[in-house]
Amino acid sequence: MLKVAKFGGSSLADAAQFQKVRNIVLSDDARRLIVVSASGKRNKNDNKITDLLYLCHAHLQYSVSCEQVFSMIESRYLDIKRELGLAVDIESDFARLRQKLDKSLSVDELVSRGEFLTARMMAEFLGYDFVDAAQLVCFDFDGKLNLDKTYEAMRQALSEHERIVMPGFYGSLPSGRIKVLSRGGSDISGALLAAATGADVYENWTDVSGILMADPRIIENPRRIDIVTYPELRELAYMGANVLHEGAIYPVKDAGIPINIRNTNQPDDPGTIICDEQSAPPAPEDPLITGLTGKKNFTVVTVSKNQQEDNLGIIRRTLEIFEKYRVEVEHIPSGIDSFSVVVATEQVEGCIYDIVGEIRALCRPADIRVIDSMALMAVVGRGMSYRPGVSGRLFAALGDANINIRMIAQGSDELNIIVGVENKDFEHALRTVYHNFVS
Ligand code: ASP
Repeated sequence: MLKVAKFGGSSLADAAQFQKVRNIVLSDDARRLIVVSASGKRNKNDNKITDLLYLCHAHLQYSVSCEQVFSMIESRYLDIKRELGLAVDIESDFARLRQKLDKSLSVDELVSRGEFLTARMMAEFLGYDFVDAAQLVCFDFDGKLNLDKTYEAMRQALSEHERIVMPGFYGSLPSGRIKVLSRGGSDISGALLAAATGADVYENWTDVSGILMADPRIIENPRRIDIVTYPELRELAYMGANVLHEGAIYPVKDAGIPINIRNTNQPDDPGTIICDEQSAPPAPEDPLITGLTGKKNFTVVTVSKNQQEDNLGIIRRTLEIFEKYRVEVEHIPSGIDSFSVVVATEQVEGCIYDIVGEIRALCRPADIRVIDSMALMAVVGRGMSYRPGVSGRLFAALGDANINIRMIAQGSDELNIIVGVENKDFEHALRTVYHNFVS
């Protein structure tokens, strides 16, 4: 059994968190490959090390001394080292970095040092080998990840070291220069390591006990999702649920490795399992819905066909106009005599009149109506696909709650139902559906 365990910044914020990570890692012999983020916030008003490093870089760009911020970073790490009684020589790492602190130091190298130093300390604390991500995560000259090279380097590392701590978030270009992934990218580093080594599971340790069925800012104490499939997660994430870095899904999904989201502060909670559909075949005990999410501020452009005109290709012509203005289309609900194009309002803020004008000129519709302030609620669940009556129950619940439904769309795989309501009804709609279906 082999597990890759990635710990996020809040799991590494101070010495006490390091201790929790150690207890977790050492309690399961299979946790042999560890990936760490840079130390994160210790409390709400604190700063993430990565943010402070970006701030140092901004100071350097404007030729302002970054000494104060840099010292803050240094003392946070030295505190952790002292409290844990570690010997690792991070003082020299800081001294070397200080010498390089000028405009020529690349932003990527500077901000990657948060993960580097966290990993150096964690390796000693666990008694594992530190292996630098610069040797394992390989980019091509054009900055794209080279998966073959990365996987090969990772497999090689596993054959040479039994237990590894690898810093997340960065790798290196063929020139040896450090290159970072996008923010939150340690999730991707962990996924790559799991995929490369064929791990049995990719554990992603964070500060919540898994993925919640709904946004806790809207629904009080929502339940945890026990199992979610990759396609469901994609739907939930696309519509606003913020869980894992999107780039972390593909490597493990393709390798058929489940992800287990766990809570460092509550290690006994089983968390949420993200797996493929084959590992979670439909079962009668499945919850009807897996999760509930959504976003506000959509604009709907409804085009009514003119019966006196040739309407062949009218949808295509309309969509081409949106494409010309580089507006992404979210949904195209259609009826016999009309269809609507749903887009994010911010995408059409400066161009909606031009778009409507062009549709009028090119498609000669009977009418065009534009409404904005629409919210889309997504009800996601693999359990819906083989049970009749779900949408009836959903719409009845919304009707009983006096919520006006402006649009309905169902994905062809029956994995989700999207309901358009007015912005002002959004929270009410989510609560209504949650309480009707879940509790
Ligand atoms: N430390 C980096 C960030 O804050 C990467 C990560 O934590 O995944 O974005």
